[in-house]
Amino acid sequence: MTPVPSRERYDLAVVGGGVHGATVALFCARAGLRTILFERGSLCREASGVNAGTLTMQMTRVALIPYALQAHAMWASAPEWLGHDVGVVVCDGLSLAFTEGEAELLTYRAGKRREAGAPIDLVGPARALEIEPGLSERVLVAGHCKVDGFANAYLTGLAYRAALIEAGVTLCEQVPVAGAVPDGGGYELDTAAGTVRARRLVLAGGVWLEEMAAWLGLRLPIKVLINQLAVTERIAPVMRTVVGIASGLLSLKQYPHGTVVIGGGWQGRGDRVQGGVELVPDSLIGNMRLACHAIPALRRSRLARAWAGLEAETRDALPAAGPIPGFPDAWICGSVHSGYTSGPFIAKRLADRILERGEPDPLFPIDRLLAPEAGAAPSAPVAEAPLS
Ligand SMILES: Cc1cc2nc3c(=O)[nH]c(=O)nc-3n(C[C@H](O)[C@H](O)[C@H](O)COP(=O)(O)OP(=O)(O)OC[C@H]3O[C@@H](n4cnc5c(N)ncnc54)[C@H](O)[C@@H]3O)c2cc1C
Repeated sequence: MTPVPSRERYDLAVVGGGVHGATVALFCARAGLRTILFERGSLCREASGVNAGTLTMQMTRVALIPYALQAHAMWASAPEWLGHDVGVVVCDGLSLAFTEGEAELLTYRAGKRREAGAPIDLVGPARALEIEPGLSERVLVAGHCKVDGFANAYLTGLAYRAALIEAGVTLCEQVPVAGAVPDGGGYELDTAAGTVRARRLVLAGGVWLEEMAAWLGLRLPIKVLINQLAVTERIAPVMRTVVGIASGLLSLKQYPHGTVVIGGGWQGRGDRVQGGVELVPDSLIGNMRLACHAIPALRRSRLARAWAGLEAETRDALPAAGPIPGFPDAWICGSVHSGYTSGPFIAKRLADRILERGEPDPLFPIDRLLAPEAGAAPSAPVAEAPLS
């Protein structure tokens, strides 16, 4: 456990060392705030380190597209602002339709995302095969986006750890926080390494944001998805783009060293409170069948490994990012579907707010998400539009 200099009062305490918390801490520390970051495990070893690394607009909620485009540009230039490599590859992305129903869904979704600024065109089978020669010839139509790509998610923690240390952040890994309460113009944190005080507080707990909000008496329901992923052995090139399908149940890309990561939100089992995850073989088989349907050459490859991780989702699948109502100088950041793609930019904007820099951006305030029994006004029901 990292020793914590607990007598000091920090300018900012961040709880949760995923991509959201780590990015907020990084930018605030670089701007001169004395920043301490608590992570109960290792940095970016939960969702931010076990995800599929896909950086795509075609799976991003419409309202998040403008942020995700900026975040994509950040990932593409990670060595410049993060200072360390996360293995980002920028390439074309295709979202496929094999049936009339999928084609309709794809057309609708591509249109909505285009309106929001994502450069997505619809292309026919011949053009899709030119863009991705590895594709099945059974494709009817495809959404084509040139702003796509992927990162090597397992490098995220290594890159952020080096950047945070260089920025002077007091990085406390293996130090769980059990609570945080207001304390005379700041916050007092109950950590496994003792009590720590900070003037400002950011809660960035991913799926555990619900438990963190409860420290302040707020009920912020967070849904947990248990996403399964698999990776093949190293194989000769079979694809050069990021491939998905209209339903969202597939994401595929081949890394430069030859492995293919296969995902698409197929569900395993797990429990955020008890801990631990378990793969569901039927889900794995379904996912692999779909992958081989899209890229037939995958049938000749063997799986090397499969795993699962916990992904947070708010009621409208948009981020929880903004001030905590009723608690001055306290913010929440994270818990968004596909949050690896958009995370760095959302978190950087939150850091700008904390630092009172630039035009204030309302981001995605949590008022809409708080459960009424917490004393907050009931928010309007969200149309859970699967098409956006
Ligand atoms: C299998 C999988 C595949 C995914 N694929 C993609 C993808 O391809 N593209 C994409 O854009 N998104 C993807 N996502 C989603 C994306 O990974 C997440 O949205 C994003 O990483 C969340 O970042 P975060 O910082 O909010 O949360 P996390 O990375 O989960 O970080 C939260 C941190 O808080 C820490 N913490 C919790 N409680 C405490 C406490 N009490 N004290 C101290 N620390 C605490 C945790 O240990 C954790 O490290 C995927 C997710 C999963 C699980």
